[in-house]
Amino acid sequence: MSGATILHADLDAFYASVEQLLDPRLRGRPIAVGGSARGGVVLAASYEAKAYGVAGGMPGWRAARLCPSLLFVPGRFREYQPLADRVMDVLGDVTPAVERISIDEAFLDVAGSTHLFGTPAQIATLLRRRVRDEIGLPISVGAARTKHLAKIASQVAKPDGLVVVEPEAERAFLEPLPVGLMWGVGPVARARLAERGITTIGELARTPSSAVEQILGQAVGARMSALSHNEDPRQVAGAGRARSLGAQSALGRQRATRELVREVLSHLADRVAGRLRAKDRAGRTVTVRVRFPGMRSVTRSLTLPGPVATTLTLTEVAEQLVWQAIREQPHPEPEITLLAVSVTGLVAQSSLQLELPLLTDDPRRPGSSPGAARWAVDRSVDAVRARFGSGAVGYLPTAMPRVRTVPDEFRELAEHDL
Ligand SMILES: [Mg+2]
Repeated sequence: MSGATILHADLDAFYASVEQLLDPRLRGRPIAVGGSARGGVVLAASYEAKAYGVAGGMPGWRAARLCPSLLFVPGRFREYQPLADRVMDVLGDVTPAVERISIDEAFLDVAGSTHLFGTPAQIATLLRRRVRDEIGLPISVGAARTKHLAKIASQVAKPDGLVVVEPEAERAFLEPLPVGLMWGVGPVARARLAERGITTIGELARTPSSAVEQILGQAVGARMSALSHNEDPRQVAGAGRARSLGAQSALGRQRATRELVREVLSHLADRVAGRLRAKDRAGRTVTVRVRFPGMRSVTRSLTLPGPVATTLTLTEVAEQLVWQAIREQPHPEPEITLLAVSVTGLVAQSSLQLELPLLTDDPRRPGSSPGAARWAVDRSVDAVRARFGSGAVGYLPTAMPRVRTVPDEFRELAEHDL
């Protein structure tokens, strides 16, 4: 499998792209956000303006001289944050390991997501398409083994592109690139390196670290030397935590009746939701797996508007998904041999408490009043169990099974972090 599992996703010319999104008349035209032909500073330039050499940070008069047809727009700053937040939500749909480093860029670690969404290149393609289709903005993505290289790759991918650097191609990829693309190499460092004849990352890599340290100072020099060899141990914040929580139950061979499905799912949801709450986590995507005789299995999943960790909600969603899968079978009442429930898209539960009460009464939303009631019940159940054991209290189908059709295997739940 590809080791290039760190993604750097970066919206292209973000402020300018938002202006072009909100005002179709600006699309395809060279625009500058901020400044004017008489003065001020350009904050961002569209790619049509960049083609003339216009860049963020440039005085307006100079930009106007470079590009006489340049349109100056004042910038609708209140629109930027909500749009960027929606982009981050899309990124968070493939992994909880999203580390936002500015309004419009983030690192993602997708090592734990490849079994669900495919290779890093496929995941990056999916994200780029979704951001384009659902939000209307172009985003470039770099994928590599390290953060440093992923960030370089996304810069090379611009505009509106994807660059994947496979581990065996790292040196060849970095070799010809200018040192200025490296994170932390500003104009001063670039000029000092150029004085010694070092302009590419390959040249920097071939210069002994001690010599680089003399040029840039010990700390910076040592770091740049390591980065030129793609030595970068920094992890994506949030990576390494559980990315999903699941439980499954083997059933032998059983006819799929309402009672059986509800009893098994209640128990599985109870275990999964209880463990989520114990870890102060909740998740947005619920996935179920139904296995039929002959080892054939069907997976169904649903992404909810908000993260869930309540037992009853998880049970209901899982039940709905399992019946979807069963109804698609040619036999009206097929036999099943296994049920599994997992929750992905995990977030810290502290973020749930920030959700304001909603107008809706959807019990799946933690901010709704039925949702809050479910939450409170689970909290009490957790507290009682912590004192008196897990058998002390529970929802009806779990605590007192109505039908004794569930075989012993059901009691020995195989639980695992997927
Ligand atoms: Mg950007």
